[in-house]
Amino acid sequence: MLPSPAFSQDFPPAEFSAGLRSQGLFERARAVFPDGTTRITVDRDPLPRYVSRGEGAYLVDVDGRRLLDLNANFTTLIHGHGFEPVIAAVERELRKGSCFANPTEAEVELASLLCERVPRLERIRFVNTGTEAVMFAIKAARAFTGRPCIAKIEGAYHGAYDWVEVAQASTPQDWGPADRPASTAYYHGMPASVLEDVVVLRFNDAAGTRRLLEERAGDIAAVLIDPMPSRAGLVAPEPEFLSTLQETARKHGILIIGDEVLNLRQGYHGVSARYGLEPDLFALGKIIGGGFPIGAIGGLSEIMAVFDSSRGRPLLPQGGTFSANPISMVAGHSAMVSLDRDALAHLEVLGSDLRKRLNDVITRTGAPLSITGAASLFRIHPRPTPPRDFREAYHAPTQARISKELTRFFVSHDIILPGGAAACLSTPMGEREIDAIVGVFEAFLAAKSALLEEIA
Ligand code: PMP
Repeated sequence: MLPSPAFSQDFPPAEFSAGLRSQGLFERARAVFPDGTTRITVDRDPLPRYVSRGEGAYLVDVDGRRLLDLNANFTTLIHGHGFEPVIAAVERELRKGSCFANPTEAEVELASLLCERVPRLERIRFVNTGTEAVMFAIKAARAFTGRPCIAKIEGAYHGAYDWVEVAQASTPQDWGPADRPASTAYYHGMPASVLEDVVVLRFNDAAGTRRLLEERAGDIAAVLIDPMPSRAGLVAPEPEFLSTLQETARKHGILIIGDEVLNLRQGYHGVSARYGLEPDLFALGKIIGGGFPIGAIGGLSEIMAVFDSSRGRPLLPQGGTFSANPISMVAGHSAMVSLDRDALAHLEVLGSDLRKRLNDVITRTGAPLSITGAASLFRIHPRPTPPRDFREAYHAPTQARISKELTRFFVSHDIILPGGAAACLSTPMGEREIDAIVGVFEAFLAAKSALLEEIA
């Protein structure tokens, strides 16, 4: 049940932990998975919440608890769970077969829709995950330019390809000087050659970006950029930063890869178009699969020609057993058709309203918190002013505690709020859900004022 937006101090917080059935499943899981889970990103505080089903904006766990889902499988489910048009499309397609070595009409439909919507997305290839999309975009840039290196933003998440993992989890102990962010390893044993081939840039640092790109311009195939990197703070890009990055890249023949895996949802034409960035290549994923595995690489025809095998072996061969499987294609097409201008406008209004109301509460109470985000996305930061980059968004121990308490408090009140990543709204949400989020946030500030004093 949703809590009423009007909280009293003595509202009895429900237990934040998952229940007994989750506990039983986790015990079994620990016998078969290295830490009881199959991905590091699974929330466990203190144990994972096993899900029984989703219902629109909500999910129901195996213990029967119903929660508002602001995670939506890491922003994938823009129409929430069990979206009827997707179910119908998948049911129809499943009867015809789930995968073939041959192409299907479904892939042409989804590709056409995406190429029509996103400027400079002239040609496209489908894969199965955002990781693969980013990987092939980087390989395409290397194949096109003949250069080995990439540049990326400190703290930005782009999936699990080695080069993009560099400096993904830097800390104050190893991130190096402000004007020269270190290429830090993400996993034990990461080859030194990988670290050497990555130039790390600070988000919103226009001058530093120009200087660092120019220093190694002849070696850099592409600069990889998510215009609002969620794990690096979900920070808004400053126009001068993006324009400097773009000018410098163009001047030196460095390609721009727009990672829109998460942020395509910011607009009908995508996130780069929203902020005036003009990528040469794109990586897409998440929402374009309607809840099924997907990724896509796209961009200017001249560059995408590296995949062209019509005249023999291409510069960059690319395959994949499940790539462009018709189930992901029809699910994605159906979800994207429903994500029309009206649906995006609804999310835009809902998101601005939510961020404004959260900011109003902060101003009224003087709480040392801040809000970032755009369109259907938001993050609550345990710091009094919005961060400008990853280093500012980084949590010192007290901030980490506050962030954890915030997530716990929300779960106690039946709302799943991702910690350290973007929270998202979905099309089935309305005023009722916004009221609930704002109500729980207000109650949190009232209940945790002593803790918040520590960062004020
Ligand atoms: N790029 C960005 C910006 C992402 O947010 C993600 C996933 N969170 C990825 C790439 C990787 O996508 P996937 O998890 O589908 O491999």
